[in-house]
Amino acid sequence: ERGQWHLSNSREKLAEHLKATGGKVITRFPPEPNGYLHIGHAKAMFVDFGYAENVGGECILRFDDTNPEAEKQEYIDHIEDIVGWMGYKPSKVTHSAHYFQQLYEYAVKLIETGNAFVDHQTAEEVKLYREERRPSPWRNRPVQESLKLFEDMRAGLIDEGKACLRMKMDHKNENYNMFDLVAYRIKFMPHPITGEAWCIYPTYDYTHCLVDAIENITHSLCTLEFESRRASYYWLLHVLGTYKPLVWEYARLGITYNVLSKRKLKKLVTEGHVSGWDDPRLLTLAGLRRRGARPQAIKNMCREIGITRNETEIPLHKLDYHIRADLDTAAERVLAVLKPLKLVLTNLPEDYSHTVEAKLFPSNPDSGTYPVPLSRVVYIEETDFKEADPDKALKAPGRPGEKKEKFFGMAPGKECVLKYAGLVMCTGLRKEGDKLVEVHGEFQPLKAGQKLPKGVLSWVGQATPGREPPRFEARLYDRLFNTASVADTGEDWLEDLNPKSLITVEGAMATPRLAAAAVGDKFQLERLGFFCVDPDSMPGKLVINRTCTLKADYNK
Ligand code: ATP
Ligand code: MG
Ligand code: MG
Repeated sequence: ERGQWHLSNSREKLAEHLKATGGKVITRFPPEPNGYLHIGHAKAMFVDFGYAENVGGECILRFDDTNPEAEKQEYIDHIEDIVGWMGYKPSKVTHSAHYFQQLYEYAVKLIETGNAFVDHQTAEEVKLYREERRPSPWRNRPVQESLKLFEDMRAGLIDEGKACLRMKMDHKNENYNMFDLVAYRIKFMPHPITGEAWCIYPTYDYTHCLVDAIENITHSLCTLEFESRRASYYWLLHVLGTYKPLVWEYARLGITYNVLSKRKLKKLVTEGHVSGWDDPRLLTLAGLRRRGARPQAIKNMCREIGITRNETEIPLHKLDYHIRADLDTAAERVLAVLKPLKLVLTNLPEDYSHTVEAKLFPSNPDSGTYPVPLSRVVYIEETDFKEADPDKALKAPGRPGEKKEKFFGMAPGKECVLKYAGLVMCTGLRKEGDKLVEVHGEFQPLKAGQKLPKGVLSWVGQATPGREPPRFEARLYDRLFNTASVADTGEDWLEDLNPKSLITVEGAMATPRLAAAAVGDKFQLERLGFFCVDPDSMPGKLVINRTCTLKADYNK
């Protein structure tokens, strides 16, 4: 039997299991509620929920909550919320803590069958002895003694650190994870679910496989770092004679210019390097949601990269690509100006007040429209105007290898299209000192069949002549770190934070449609990128996040 036990499921156990599942595939997604979920967890959900969905099975959301010092109700609530946001419906929501009594009884059985003992080595001694493959001096103490001490541990009669329960595995094994792992430790600490009921808590290694067996999980899918723990997983189920799930591992997801471990994310949050777990620069799911990404984009990326066993970091631009492609079909277009420059249409009267119809999806002739006020004073993008037309310089001979970019914006003497409205011939400008204050132009409505200049400008008009359009704050994001592989920078990883990862633009101008948007609404601001209304918005103060630009940046 030895050597085969990890594959064998006794006939009776399998029959019991089949009766419980009805032959259905049951998976679980087992987050520890010690932080917010990140995009790596989205991959895990894609595997756990996705596999079950594909084969008509079910997936349990199980909080793997065996470390009360790190776990919080806030995290539990958030995880349930964000799993729902991703569009996954767990067949039930459970906690490892729900099984603490059953796990305790299994531990007593382990001791009784000579498969566990109470140990008194310190953490350092355990580590040293394990490295030297030496057994603990307490390993062969009488069963009765261990039973009594374990009861004392449970009753709170032994101090923290003075005793633990260890599994009596195989300290001669090649696999470090077979060397008498700790099953229970003493922690005088309340638990978010069980409160003060327990002062001993089971470890991950002890709990995970047992709860998988108790919940009749058919496929226990996890990341590759657990591969070396497969042996201990099956060892424990074997000695306790339970049913054995199938275990299968896949590669963890990493993304360039970011960190994904909860330990690092927590440090960024608690030390104030970002505004919170949902800072749009983080690849937490809450951050991605706030930034404006939709769950489908995240799932599409997971599908594209596939479920493989080779560990690679996915380039950030791949995630951007999926977010952009998904929003492209979903987010209606709207005109807005980030850095407004006043343009006076001098041939229109002071009280001129019209509306033009702008397209929700310009590339689709049948898409609907929304009204944009057109007035004598409109605002264009500051970067769309140049006092001296660089196009003229284009005609002059360049230096060898010089790349000249064509300028399609406005310049004195040049004609441009004011998008959806008409043509403007730039006739002049007004300066105060060195500062450009306004540009002047003459406006002409578009005529059918007319040949148009190449330059097309985004703009915003005044709904009430003489009154400025509503302003908003735009938050533009860049990658959070300057180094592609942050994991390779060791403990100095914080030094690689990009100081310009957030650029706040105040005083951007909105068309009325954008000004009336609600938190979470998503738009493409024409030419500027995809944006999403931020929860920091208040009546009279709109804040919007740039989710992504319109063009890929392959340097990410
Ligand atoms: P972290 O180091 O971020 O805390 P973790 O593995 O401790 O990660 P858990 O909450 O225990 O986080 O993870 C729940 C599930 O999500 C586990 O099955 C785990 O393997 C999986 N998971 C966590 N991070 C990733 C990742 N980067 N890629 C794929 N799966 C992941
Ligand atoms: Mg974990
Ligand atoms: Mg962890």
